[in-house]
Amino acid sequence: MAQILDGKAFAARLRGRVAEAVAELGAAGGPAPGLAVVLVGEDAASQVYVRSKGRATREAGMVSLEHRLAADVPQAELLALVAQLNADPAVHGILVQLPLPAHMDAAAVIAAIDPAKDVDGFHISNVGLLATGGRAMVPCTPLGCLMLLRDRLGDMAGLEAVVLGRSNIVGKPMAQLLLRESCTVTVAHSRTRDLPGVCRRADILVAAVGRPEMVPGDWIKPGATVIDVGINRVPDGAGGSRLVGDVAFASAAEVAGAITPVPGGVGPMTIACLLANTVTAAARAAGLPEPEGLGL
Ligand code: NDP
Repeated sequence: MAQILDGKAFAARLRGRVAEAVAELGAAGGPAPGLAVVLVGEDAASQVYVRSKGRATREAGMVSLEHRLAADVPQAELLALVAQLNADPAVHGILVQLPLPAHMDAAAVIAAIDPAKDVDGFHISNVGLLATGGRAMVPCTPLGCLMLLRDRLGDMAGLEAVVLGRSNIVGKPMAQLLLRESCTVTVAHSRTRDLPGVCRRADILVAAVGRPEMVPGDWIKPGATVIDVGINRVPDGAGGSRLVGDVAFASAAEVAGAITPVPGGVGPMTIACLLANTVTAAARAAGLPEPEGLGL
């Protein structure tokens, strides 16, 4: 039976480390890190995320600023708000909650964020810095996955890593991070031939597909470390619903060496890494050393 990688407990420790780093920063004459979250429209899931981000930010001793705009707000108004936040010295991190309404160009909005305040790590400058080994802001979900992997495996050099999914927010940055760890990385996607065979090569398998329980146990190499990024809501058979990952947990746990559960695996790491990135951004803005244990 696989070891269960408890992301909830790990994230709680990381949030504790963030709170310590906030206090250290203050003691060194630095600012209270400020995170501005911008929500456009009424998307129910986004509202829940924004609320929990605000709460976690305040609990870590940081300043949370929330900006809510109507769903039909012109893009120019959102860009003006981003420019105002870019110029505000009390704001160290800016997060524009995605998805944006259909009339907006998300790429243009992300491009308008100051890369130094881009705590989501989606700005093209941060994408480029990550790919070239520079001092990037690293996207929160892959950063959380990396922390869990390091905690379990330590040195990953030479391991076969397969990332299932090639999105800009999870799959691609995850592949870059594993390459930085000197893994031999394969990125698989919907056009990959022999997906089961590719997955069976993996010492490290990261699944970020968005398909409920798509990866069965017999795609997994015995002893592999499996990180399940997927969050899928499915009927629970009793008129309600439940969350499952992209990996069929029960059968995978019989084969894997370690596996993240859903919920309670990668999910809690994402918000903790958002806080960590905001503290890192605040330390950089103040010209102070970056706190240990919060990033790469
Ligand atoms: P996207 O939909 O942007 O990307 C999905 C990827 O999976 C694509 O690259 C796609 O391939 C690939 N894919 C889809 N179907 C198949 C298939 N049948 N076989 C092989 N590959 C396939 O999703 P995201 O990366 O944004 O998210 C992935 C999952 O992670 C979702 O469940 C999401 O909810 C979850 N998530 C969780 C987070 C967390 O905090 N835990 C944060 C972000 C996401 P192609 O490119 O060829 O179309």
